[in-house]
Amino acid sequence: MKLGSDVSGLSTTAANAAVQGLSIVVPVYNEAAGLAALHARLAGLARTLARRWQLSCEVIYVDDGSQDDTLKIARALSPDALDVQVVSLSRNFGKEAALVAGLDHAGRGAVMFMDGDGQHPPALIEQLVGHWIDDGYDVVYTAKAHRDNESFLRRMAVHGFYALINWGARQKIPEDAGDFRLLSPRAAAALRQLPERNRFFKGLASWIGFRQIRVDYEPAPRAHGVTTFNAGRLIGLSIEGLTSFSVAPLRFASLLGVVLAGGAFLFGLSIVWEVWTTGKQVPGYPSLVVGLMTIGGVQLIMIGVLGEYIGKILSELKARPIYFVAEHSEKRSDAKGGEKAGEAAPERTAAE
Ligand code: UDP
Ligand code: MG
Repeated sequence: MKLGSDVSGLSTTAANAAVQGLSIVVPVYNEAAGLAALHARLAGLARTLARRWQLSCEVIYVDDGSQDDTLKIARALSPDALDVQVVSLSRNFGKEAALVAGLDHAGRGAVMFMDGDGQHPPALIEQLVGHWIDDGYDVVYTAKAHRDNESFLRRMAVHGFYALINWGARQKIPEDAGDFRLLSPRAAAALRQLPERNRFFKGLASWIGFRQIRVDYEPAPRAHGVTTFNAGRLIGLSIEGLTSFSVAPLRFASLLGVVLAGGAFLFGLSIVWEVWTTGKQVPGYPSLVVGLMTIGGVQLIMIGVLGEYIGKILSELKARPIYFVAEHSEKRSDAKGGEKAGEAAPERTAAE
């Protein structure tokens, strides 16, 4: 039995890149207002890629249970310069699930992930593809060039989060890296083999290794609407990422326990010493209460941390599919391919 996985057969060379092709995965949730414009830009980009590398592209719009006209508009998009797949999920499963759905339906070799709100400039894709085909990189990820427009508190929170998640990790998750990235065929194959249901995409894409390169960019302002990730959701995503990715919080708990116990022991020694040398009883009521409350509070927090991990184990154990596809259509850009719609793809199962 082999315990590892060999994806070397999918390596990219200048000669086979065109054959491998590129799938662009775009999760969309209530993006009706900007979808047509985005599609037009992607079509233009596809023409450029075809000219420069003879690369054939497809785009996969994953409708994550939108309540507006997103699905209707996506269905009507023309497969002008690139093939178009529309995968509609049965409800809103969240961006991470939408990304998995897109990855599962991607039919070409390399896979590119980008947001559907216009914040990820399609013009940058040409540069990312260049890093893949010309320079031989497997994971080309983008990162915010700076965070000048974010509050100090938020920057500190982000910094603390990455410090914790990368604590003791062999493969560090780069700070500021976003979901806008390109995976070479072998990197995409590797990502597909990771079996967990609680997925923290940025972390997993970094964990697989291979040759990775960072590209800095300035995210454009949202083309329309507002972000769906408010502070609460970001905190949720951070806890999700932390607990599904590292055991640092558990280690931190053990360490804190050791420090507190050590402190208590020293404090006890000092009391004994004081009684012994002065012969007086030490008045201890306030320090006792403070000590009790500290230990009680820390214990409750750590039980909460444990609970997060147990919850994670429970959801992995239940092994529910990450998403359900309610509707799937595919339009090919070449004349003979025609249109085949309504072909349902299987949902992700444990065996995959
Ligand atoms: N998105 C999604 N499902 C959700 C929330 C968001 O598929 O439940 C998509 C959304 O349509 C967009 C991308 O994920 O294409 C990023 O979302 P958003 O712009 O709200 O997040 P931000 O850019 O602020 O991180
Ligand atoms: Mg956005």
